[in-house]
Amino acid sequence: RVKQASHNNFAFFTQEMQTHSARHLQLNNAMHFALARGELSLHYQPQFSLQDGHIVGAEALLRWQHPEMGSLSPAEFIPIAEDNGQILAIGEWVLRTAVTQLKHWIDGGMAPMVVAVNLSAVQFRHPNLLTMVTQILDEVGLPPQYLELELTEAMAMDNPMAAIALMNQLHERGIRMAIDDFGTGYSSLSYLKKFNVSKLKIDQSFVRDISDGQDDKAIVTAIINLAASLNLKTIAEGVESASQLAFLRLQGCDEAQGYYFSKPLPVAAFEAFVQAQQPVS
Ligand code: C2E
Ligand code: MG
Ligand code: MG
Ligand code: MG
Repeated sequence: RVKQASHNNFAFFTQEMQTHSARHLQLNNAMHFALARGELSLHYQPQFSLQDGHIVGAEALLRWQHPEMGSLSPAEFIPIAEDNGQILAIGEWVLRTAVTQLKHWIDGGMAPMVVAVNLSAVQFRHPNLLTMVTQILDEVGLPPQYLELELTEAMAMDNPMAAIALMNQLHERGIRMAIDDFGTGYSSLSYLKKFNVSKLKIDQSFVRDISDGQDDKAIVTAIINLAASLNLKTIAEGVESASQLAFLRLQGCDEAQGYYFSKPLPVAAFEAFVQAQQPVS
């Protein structure tokens, strides 16, 4: 786009690219050992019903703790894993780990809840997804209705007809789906009606400004009403304050997750959180 970069700008740009690519290369290389070396783990963030305050689900969020580089953000390393293909092995590991964990919790007497797993666009496009997911559920012995797959509007809109077919197949097997980061993409309303999902996750950028921004209030309300008219549930992401929560409840949002309730937690801390939990009112 920028056609008239000066010589100085150009020099600056190439230097930045080199820094970026050195880091990229480092992560790219380290990633090939991350799974085998046990550097990956999942944290779980509780999701709450706004009707009765109970925990109804947990979103599994990937964490990578590298011995030298420290803790790495999925926002940084997942795009690299998508480029080098590692996302398929990592994504399968995430799914198996999350499903196994929930089975273990339910068998141990924890009140049943849904585990939400984020899918990558690369996984969503891969012809083996349906088989992989159903095999893991069978192996582990978790009924499919306990799993919710999160996908984004962009993933569904990349090839809407293929997405509709896949969503129908997943739905037939009893697996739920939610649209993550809803409102930031560009899904057309006519397609949204055909997507066999059960929930819209209201993006945290809209939730963040509820307290002061009139526009975002209107967007949140519009999404909740849209979802209701399509018979979909809504969950608000990134809820950080009591006033955001009060507004969401007033508008009829079904569920919420965010730092106001809890950050994503490692397994033992999540278990302790659930045990200590009184319904949030
Ligand atoms: P996401 O699925 O939209 O997840 C929500 C992100 O918001 C998470 O960041 C979560 O830790 C953070 N969050 C939760 N509550 C709050 C809050 O109240 N305030 C703020 N400011 N942030 C909050 P995280 O864990 O860094 O993950 C970032 C993104 O990386 C995720 O966005 C998702 O797109 C991707 N991701 C994470 N785990 C996986 C995975 O296993 N597979 C794939 N394909 N993507 C993943
Ligand atoms: Mg998500
Ligand atoms: Mg999200
Ligand atoms: Mg996201």
